[in-house]
Amino acid sequence: MPTPPIHVVGGGLAGSEAAWQLAERGHDVLLHEMRGVRGTAAHKTDRLAELVCSNTFKSTETSNAHGLLKAEMRVLGSVVLESADAARVPGGSALTVDRDVFSSGVHDRVTSHPRVTVVREEVVALPSPGIIATGPLTSDALAEAVRERLGMSSLAFYDAIAPIVARDSIDDAIVFRASRYGKETMDGAGDDGAYLNCPFTREQYESFIDALTEADQHHGHEFDEVPYFEGCMPAEEMAKRGRETLRFGPMKPVGLRDPRTGHEAYAILQLRQEDRAGRMWNLVGFQTRLRIPEQQRVFRLIPGLENAEFLRYGSIHRNSYINSPASLTPHLSLRDDPATLFAGQLTGVEGYTESTATGLVAGVNLSRILNGKPPVIPPPTTMLGALYRYLREADPAHFQPMNANFGLVDDLPSRVKDKRIKREKLAERALADMAAWWDDVR
Ligand SMILES: Cc1cc2nc3c(=O)[nH]c(=O)nc-3n(C[C@H](O)[C@H](O)[C@H](O)COP(=O)(O)OP(=O)(O)OC[C@H]3O[C@@H](n4cnc5c(N)ncnc54)[C@H](O)[C@@H]3O)c2cc1C
Repeated sequence: MPTPPIHVVGGGLAGSEAAWQLAERGHDVLLHEMRGVRGTAAHKTDRLAELVCSNTFKSTETSNAHGLLKAEMRVLGSVVLESADAARVPGGSALTVDRDVFSSGVHDRVTSHPRVTVVREEVVALPSPGIIATGPLTSDALAEAVRERLGMSSLAFYDAIAPIVARDSIDDAIVFRASRYGKETMDGAGDDGAYLNCPFTREQYESFIDALTEADQHHGHEFDEVPYFEGCMPAEEMAKRGRETLRFGPMKPVGLRDPRTGHEAYAILQLRQEDRAGRMWNLVGFQTRLRIPEQQRVFRLIPGLENAEFLRYGSIHRNSYINSPASLTPHLSLRDDPATLFAGQLTGVEGYTESTATGLVAGVNLSRILNGKPPVIPPPTTMLGALYRYLREADPAHFQPMNANFGLVDDLPSRVKDKRIKREKLAERALADMAAWWDDVR
């Protein structure tokens, strides 16, 4: 009996990869892409896998988190990555591409696959079996359908991301652990409280405010202008509204006694734990539009963060994304239908490579499910598996999109002090584990 076709919604990076993986596994795929009949605010062509902004897939070095993720995807066989390799232009150690050659490459390969049919239409309902990979600019009607199915608070339309720094780059001689009035506690944090606190003297606060208000901001596309509402106001915007605004807002020092001085500091910036293992710490209330070099310069003025290693930078974008830990299964499907999966930026990953990678795994998993096998996720020693773990286990109350970074990955069994050597060892283990996993599940 012929099997019904599978619907992949969204012919972007994730959807193109997912459709290819399914087709290569013998499934007939209807790939629904609305561009051609309805545009988005950022895409300019109707080709599959258009890059909406920069033309780089970032580093190729495996000691870099993005480089490692790509190396893992090469083990799995990614059509998007192969097309990126074929479109490469000089970019040092980064995989930089000619965007037209790249998207034409993906477009031609996917559309000429005998098992893929591209349908130009806006999908407005959730398919089963199917994969929804409609990205950060998911059309309103489909976003509404997702919200109806998952709950109103399950889908955000903007992200307002604060930077995240690595725990082992925070100076413990300055930062102290405490909870405001002894009330901010968390499982596993002990009596000392859940937050790390960076104490400012008056002079430090004044210089910080000067730097923050004078720093260079990123000006996004017009459609990307976010209406600032409570909880998403950029820190630099707050600082511009008045020199004391932050000190009476996210930087208020009340109820936090610095054990070294025995007093309240003039201002405090709090860091909140982002992951279970406590390797990633978020600058509370510091969502920002500062340019990346400015974030490095300004946020390293924070006492205790002078040598901060940024695992992700702050940003504020228009971005539709699902609160995956609150709403989806570990393989990113509906909880009441394992054959309706989500992939790409919509799931709360961030970036070209990350989006593509979840498309690949979604294709593999839907094929397995249709063949009566359980879905699979790479181990958390790999960058891709660690991203999936984040989507599964992050705190739903503070869930924010995430890019590949080493803070997500399981630590090595023994401590390695040298950062470069540590990353090389992590990468070596990740690639070996990915190869073994793939041999098992492919
Ligand atoms: C303006 C902007 C700039 C970005 N810049 C970068 C960057 O420089 N580097 C980086 O790594 N990441 C960037 N990102 C983040 C992200 O990596 C990209 O958006 C990436 O394209 C996401 O891949 P995706 O497959 O999830 O979504 P997309 O590539 O956007 O693909 C989704 C597709 O679904 C289609 N679609 C939407 N709704 C429907 C519907 N109802 N029915 C049918 N089709 C539909 C869209 O037309 C689109 O083709 C940017 C995001 C935005 C919005």
